Amino acid sequence: MRIISSALLLLALTIAGEISTLATTAIIPSDAGLIVGARCIITGKVLSISSRFNTRLGDVSTYVRVRVDEVLKGDITAAEIVLREPGGRDGDLVSVVFGAPEFRASEQVLLYLDTWPDGSFRVYQMFLGKFSISRAPETGRLIVTRQTHGPNVDLIGQGPDGPITDQMDLAGYRHLIKATLSSYAEQSRQFQTRYYSGVPLTSAPPEYKPASSVQGIQPEFTLHPFRGRWLEPDRGQPVSFVLNPDQQPSPQTADDVVAAINAWSSVNGSLMRVTLSGTTDLCLTPTTSTIYFDNCDSRHSPMPFCQGVVAIGGFFADYSVKQTVGDFELFKIVGAYISFNPYTCSYANDCNIREIATHEMGHTLGLGHSWQPGDPGVPTAEQQDATMYFAAHFDGRCASLRTDDINGIIFLYPASSGDLQIATDSSLAPGVVGTPYSQALTAGGEPAPYSWTIAPLKGSLPPGLSLSPAGIISGTPLLAGTFSFSAQVTDSSSHAAQKAFSITISAAPLTVGTTTLNAGVKGFPFSQQLLAAGGTPPYRWSLATGLLPAGLSLDPGNGMLSGTPLVTGTFPVSVSVTDATSGTALKAFQIMVVGPDSVPQISTARYKGTKLVLRGAHFDSAATLVIDGSAVSSAIQSDQAIVAKRLSLAGGTHQIVVLNSNGIASSPFTLTVN
Ligand SMILES: [Zn+2]
Repeated sequence: MRIISSALLLLALTIAGEISTLATTAIIPSDAGLIVGARCIITGKVLSISSRFNTRLGDVSTYVRVRVDEVLKGDITAAEIVLREPGGRDGDLVSVVFGAPEFRASEQVLLYLDTWPDGSFRVYQMFLGKFSISRAPETGRLIVTRQTHGPNVDLIGQGPDGPITDQMDLAGYRHLIKATLSSYAEQSRQFQTRYYSGVPLTSAPPEYKPASSVQGIQPEFTLHPFRGRWLEPDRGQPVSFVLNPDQQPSPQTADDVVAAINAWSSVNGSLMRVTLSGTTDLCLTPTTSTIYFDNCDSRHSPMPFCQGVVAIGGFFADYSVKQTVGDFELFKIVGAYISFNPYTCSYANDCNIREIATHEMGHTLGLGHSWQPGDPGVPTAEQQDATMYFAAHFDGRCASLRTDDINGIIFLYPASSGDLQIATDSSLAPGVVGTPYSQALTAGGEPAPYSWTIAPLKGSLPPGLSLSPAGIISGTPLLAGTFSFSAQVTDSSSHAAQKAFSITISAAPLTVGTTTLNAGVKGFPFSQQLLAAGGTPPYRWSLATGLLPAGLSLDPGNGMLSGTPLVTGTFPVSVSVTDATSGTALKAFQIMVVGPDSVPQISTARYKGTKLVLRGAHFDSAATLVIDGSAVSSAIQSDQAIVAKRLSLAGGTHQIVVLNSNGIASSPFTLTVN
């Protein structure tokens, strides 16, 4: 399905910054467009859903029985009505219509309705005219929400005809409908007279039979789970369409359709080929794939303000033949159609027609929307850019495909492999978090050069790794786990081969990162943070062997060794760290605690000529003089004086330390040389 509104056309003329914001929020048509264009508006409850092949329409129809609670617009007096929606399943025949509204039994709904030519009801503007009524968890108040799921979508845009509401308080929305009806009373009356006068209104389609009396019905049918795939490409055959030129919007329309065909038929790495094999006077039929412009299927509704559904694409599938590709069950597509809406004013130029044809053809090949209202969250930039996005872009793209479209068609129809094969074993070398990883993939059987990618929709590489076009997986893994994905290789002749791989990334081994412990001084506060590396935090620390000097303790939660040592001596200990996955690492240390009189202290330093004289206390007879990190030859004159001669110090500041033979160092002393 393709929709457009004058809101989008207007937006294209405003500044670029607004387009990107509003493009995600412009849910079309506007409230006024729906309210004026709908024949009836009701609230009610879904009582049952069933689907059945309808011989008069040549299609499967889904029948939705609704208890009418309130009539907000139109002449409905029946307590119950039955909607006829396009698509559904009857036995082995599945009809998938992209954009059809989805229903759940027992659901409370607010529905915009119009009628088929025979007077049977349907939702106006497909899923855009269907709202669910539910209770907001935060406030307990009743709200209306477009589509049946997607609580994250709460989008209100502004079109030239007023607001576009996707979610609102029910009371407020009911008021909005009544107020809009009264301010658009004349337009609404004229619209009704023009399009609906003389069209009957029937509470149930004539062919409808209650679900309980029909064999083989699907009582909880929704269209959503059905996906399809053509088998022709696997046999080297094209998917063939015929075109019914009646009411085609432009003499170039056949060329526009061919442009769409060429776009889908020339994706490097995809086997899909589509052809246009001639013209026809056929309409919708499950066995011939047709493209038509004259509303011969009666699917399309008139639209006020030029808003609403522009074209519908769908396919018929055989429920008895299915394949599993990736995470999807795909039913064999046996026929398809593209139905352009003659009521629209969106065929202003051939570029727009090409975009519409390309989008709808994507549906007929089995692709859904890259994103549509009701899907979780907000669309990504790539999803919005896709030609398969639910709303038309009309940005001059014509019949072009974008990344998401290309990924989709390659996923469904990966190109023939010829003799191309990926030689690398499925189970790739394991990696370690934080350690650089590199693995080459190799292929053979067809002439090089090869180009490598990760196959779309079939898993992903471990975070931190990427695959180069030359086939090298490299990077530094960030997360532990086993990661499955498929790699795809293509050669210069468009052969493509895929293979599933997995890489197991383990956490880095747990180690104690601290290498030595500082010496402590009896009677003075001491603290040192022990560090662990690798493994999986959080860590737990403990003393494995030995005894800490009295006065010190190790915090098991954070690895802080602290306290005020009360004794001197050298204490051999080993500490143990355990991580969240029960790995353990041990490390042996010696903690030395000295008396205060073993700690050298520098009180003055005098440098003159080439002679340095240090005065202080507790210099031992084998102490070392260290200047700017380097030992310097010196003479210990007493435990209070050290002299170094023939010493050349440059102008500036120098750091001087005295290191006693027991490894205890003085605090650094800063000497300034002029
Ligand atoms: Zn669509």
